[in-house]
Amino acid sequence: MLPTKKHRIALISVDGDPAAEIGQEEAGGQNVYVRQVGCALAAQGWQVDMFTRQNHPDQAAIVQHEPLCRTIRLKTGPAEFIGRDDLFHHLPEFIAEFQAFQQEQGFHYPLIHTNYWLSSWVGLELKKQQPLIQLHTYHSLGVVKYNTISDIPAIASRRIAIEKACLETVDRVVATSPQEQEHMRKFVSTKGQIEVIPCGTDVDKFGFIQRSAARQKLGIAPDVKMVVYVGRFDQRKGIETLVRAIAKSSLRDQANLQLVIGGGYRPGHSDGIERDRIASIVAELGLEDCTTFPGRLDDTVLPSYYAAADVCVVPSHYEPFGLVAIEAMASRTPVVASDVGGLRFTVVPEVTGLLVPPKDEVAFAAAIDRILLNPAWRDQLGEAGRQRVEIAFSWHGVASRLTQLYTHLLASSMTSIEAKPQVAA
Ligand code: UDP
Repeated sequence: MLPTKKHRIALISVDGDPAAEIGQEEAGGQNVYVRQVGCALAAQGWQVDMFTRQNHPDQAAIVQHEPLCRTIRLKTGPAEFIGRDDLFHHLPEFIAEFQAFQQEQGFHYPLIHTNYWLSSWVGLELKKQQPLIQLHTYHSLGVVKYNTISDIPAIASRRIAIEKACLETVDRVVATSPQEQEHMRKFVSTKGQIEVIPCGTDVDKFGFIQRSAARQKLGIAPDVKMVVYVGRFDQRKGIETLVRAIAKSSLRDQANLQLVIGGGYRPGHSDGIERDRIASIVAELGLEDCTTFPGRLDDTVLPSYYAAADVCVVPSHYEPFGLVAIEAMASRTPVVASDVGGLRFTVVPEVTGLLVPPKDEVAFAAAIDRILLNPAWRDQLGEAGRQRVEIAFSWHGVASRLTQLYTHLLASSMTSIEAKPQVAA
């Protein structure tokens, strides 16, 4: 049985602000994960402080999400957006601010859960300065990611070394899929302890609007064959493959085929540049009439976009988990995804959607067409997807698994402190 008294704990996500607007430049799955895990843990009685950096002078230093869950923004370099690859040398300041915060509160967090390699380093440094339990979720592994991109950043070797040290040193690594665990063992280290606890989704937010009502709300005609992409504009997301697949679809010449590419971007920033690149491919392939870019989809419309679609496509080159796939499934919309990473865990081929080789536009076109041409099968896949999410991917279930793990690690650390021989003063 779990003890009723729960501790005050810290989730650390230096680069992914849990209180940020999701769906544009570097604010995606990690931000959602930290926010949702934090709130779900608070609902189970933990007092959760989520630490991130301030990236705008107007941002509140503290955002209270729930009575037991808040985001705390620490000063870390200039109060402006700094890309992940340029943040590392500001981290000592984050650590100093974190220590000052603890000092002010007269309290040391007994357990921290760090997110992404930057925060793992923060945790490893804190661990040298105070007794604490550290858990870590990677969200992306440098060694795997750098295999899928051409412009390797200067920070790459440092990131890879820290990711290895992290796996070998922290009290527990949380892999979000068995595939991510396999990658860690194969490419990062055979040492260290890993537990697989998936990401989740809000089963009450998605799946409560019918396709017809969603279309009415969005002004999409009932006979449209609608293909949706949701996510950030980043080359690793493979949006180009999707656009090229639509150009190859057997339904291409039908007036009712529609591709919706949802996601925010900032002109001149990396996502704005990728968005422009995708738009130029759309133009080059003559798909402008059937393609729309509705921009960032916030919570007031996101569930409707998923529900309205006939198929949701996740064409990533690399995806440690991929929240979009389970959000679509929760909305009863089948998923066509790349046969990579966590998508192999969430999408069950021929049951909740289809998996195809990454970057293979012909295979994507064939898979999309199979679903678009068979509405009865589409509904069957959608229903199975919803059931799979309810069983395996609710935030409540994720938080229960984390609660068990935190409680176990805290209890073991207490036992080891008690078991230590007392030295006479
Ligand atoms: N998202 C959103 N609005 C958008 C685009 C994306 O809310 O316009 C959300 C999406 O619903 C999902 C997250 O951003 O929760 C993306 O997470 P995922 O794991 O799929 O990708 P990541 O961003 O981690 O690469």
